[in-house]
Amino acid sequence: MTFESNYSLKLLNTFGLSVQAEYFARFNSIEELQKLLVEAKRPIMILGGGSNILFTQNLIGSVLKNEIGGIDIIDEDEQTALVQVGGGVKWHDFVIWSINNQLGGIENLSLIPGSVGAAPMQNIGAYGTEIKSVFEHLEAVHIDSLEVRIFNKDDCQFGYRYSIFKGELKGQFVICSVNFRLNKIPKFNTSYGTVENELRAMKVKVNLENISKAIIAIRQRKLPDPKDIGNCGSFFKNPTISNKQYEKLKAQFPQIVGYSIAQDKTKIAAAWLIEKAGWKGYKHNDTGVHQSQALVLVNYGQAKGKDILKLSQNIQTSVQQKFDITLEPEVNII
Ligand SMILES: Cc1cc2nc3c(=O)[nH]c(=O)nc-3n(C[C@H](O)[C@H](O)[C@H](O)COP(=O)(O)OP(=O)(O)OC[C@H]3O[C@@H](n4cnc5c(N)ncnc54)[C@H](O)[C@@H]3O)c2cc1C
Repeated sequence: MTFESNYSLKLLNTFGLSVQAEYFARFNSIEELQKLLVEAKRPIMILGGGSNILFTQNLIGSVLKNEIGGIDIIDEDEQTALVQVGGGVKWHDFVIWSINNQLGGIENLSLIPGSVGAAPMQNIGAYGTEIKSVFEHLEAVHIDSLEVRIFNKDDCQFGYRYSIFKGELKGQFVICSVNFRLNKIPKFNTSYGTVENELRAMKVKVNLENISKAIIAIRQRKLPDPKDIGNCGSFFKNPTISNKQYEKLKAQFPQIVGYSIAQDKTKIAAAWLIEKAGWKGYKHNDTGVHQSQALVLVNYGQAKGKDILKLSQNIQTSVQQKFDITLEPEVNII
């Protein structure tokens, strides 16, 4: 638990960007974190798996990496188990643990990279599930006062790829552990067409393990593995527009991909907008847009965070000009 100086973060971010932290340290418990917070040079940045961050420069101050472990059932009844998970546990390891223990609720979130501590930050979601559906509460430490605080579901203000930790309380708390209520009698959610098709093609019965395997297979086909090509998954959120604007665009672009999410709101597939604006497969030096996933910006090797940021801004501008829609980054830009 000591600070190292001029520490390379290249292997600690899935874009594989070569940046350095002025000071870097790891913590394994709340007590260790509190000690580090007293000593750490400001500003302080908390790092999990580095799978949702675009580093555009070297970091002044301190980067603290969450390595708090542990997965424990702390309460249970006939139907559910309350599971406490350390913020430094890898999200996918927790998913596999839940399947091995026959506990349902997060199988659709298989293979999402990153740490459990970062999962509530943007209410991670995939294939029709978000963590808010199984979230019970979390324990966090205030960076300046060192106070330990419990946040229940309402406190977190979860939304689409959003929580209070990305809004009002941004940069103020370190999430140390998260409690989830998982189901002993799982309710399977295979409503996403591709999941159902995959299960059918696998010719297996629908259970937790097979849903997870189906989703892993789909994701491995669809998304570039950061070990091979640096990326952070979806770079932008899917934008929401009014039904009126959607109808207007639909008349102009009949193939536009959108689905209704509320009485007057339609969510649009950002990948479709980016592809139609001509960016899919774009490559300039080592920066690009993945050839089969227009939502995924990539580092082919030596790209700089600033180049990826510039590319993302160019994409935003052209989507704005062509469709009058503002794309908002999902990735945290630092
Ligand atoms: C190939 C790929 C696929 C992906 N697919 C999905 C997907 O399907 N759905 C989805 O929702 N996301 C997806 N992501 C994004 C990413 O995996 C998630 O956002 C994940 O939760 C990030 O976790 P992390 O530990 O890597 O966070 P980091 O990238 O380390 O941090 C993200 C942000 O959270 C802050 N932070 C991290 N840990 C803490 C903590 N303990 N306390 C306070 N702040 C903290 C950081 O300061 C930073 O601002 C994908 C990423 C990749 C690379």
